[in-house]
Amino acid sequence: MTEAPKGLFGRKSFGLELRELPARPLGAHEARLQVLACGVCGTDLHFLRDAADFTPLGHEACGRVLETGSAVTRFFPGQQVVMEDVALCGVCDQCKSGRVDLCRSGFTMRDQPGMAEEIVLHENMLHLAEGLDPVTAAMTEPLAVAIRCVETLAPEPGKPLAIFGMGAIGLFCAAWARLRGAGPITMIARDPLSERNQAAWEAAKALGAERVLYTRDPDWTKGAGPFASVIVAAPPSLSKDALAISAYGGRVLACGVTFGAGRTAEVDINDMVFNKKSLLTSIAEPGLHFPLALSLIRSGRIDARRVVTHQLPLSQAHGLAQLYEKDSPAIKTVIIPG
Ligand SMILES: [Zn+2]
Ligand SMILES: [Zn+2]
Repeated sequence: MTEAPKGLFGRKSFGLELRELPARPLGAHEARLQVLACGVCGTDLHFLRDAADFTPLGHEACGRVLETGSAVTRFFPGQQVVMEDVALCGVCDQCKSGRVDLCRSGFTMRDQPGMAEEIVLHENMLHLAEGLDPVTAAMTEPLAVAIRCVETLAPEPGKPLAIFGMGAIGLFCAAWARLRGAGPITMIARDPLSERNQAAWEAAKALGAERVLYTRDPDWTKGAGPFASVIVAAPPSLSKDALAISAYGGRVLACGVTFGAGRTAEVDINDMVFNKKSLLTSIAEPGLHFPLALSLIRSGRIDARRVVTHQLPLSQAHGLAQLYEKDSPAIKTVIIPG
């Protein structure tokens, strides 16, 4: 009997467990993948800081098809693919009304960690990603999330855009907004002395941002803006500051979530009404824009590898505590199961 594949589960205080995964027989429309690379998302880090119970980790995965169910015709063993963590169903009323973004009956990972040796997924969750290095290909999901944010906000070309947060989502938002013509782009983070922020600012410049502001400076809003558009890829409480620095008619999009403190913001509705400001949100479920993200990565128009600063073998995932419990130059870490 061969050994069961293992997968990673995590909870608060960077508690990690590499568990043997239960056997999963392959459904007719499913494929079994060998995971080659899986990015560590901000969501995973939230679980590692705040989740009471062990939670499966990882959804930014690139893998190789090992085996396909009897009805799968689009994928074959040996092919390299990337996965959506939630894929639209295509047959519900919302999907059939063209509101695929509102689909709530799609295909999911069904509690499997992406940071695992193997994973079984419905074929509708997969995209061919042949010829890309797996670490870069694993950035398809966060880039697709960022594209969703920017497309929801629709920042005007040639008008100033500010982005709170220099994690992978904030950085990819800058990259896609830039290609779309928005700008100048100002990144906003808290602490100029943070090694993580210093590494991220170098990446932000490479991806198209012009300027960075640090909110640790009590006068940071002086000379900031007003901005036609603002993205909050950071704790939701910063939406208040984002509205304050947005222009007459400005649009703010919040996409950051937190499971700890900082999930609420007291906003000035009068200011919003009189100054025609709006606050939008975005969550990338179901997955959209994967084809665009893949083509931007493949063509080199977005250097997705630029946000990856660290790689860890699955067996050494406990190294995440050192990278993220305190300050370090780590932006995106990718877990390598092989
Ligand atoms: Zn993610
Ligand atoms: Zn649907």
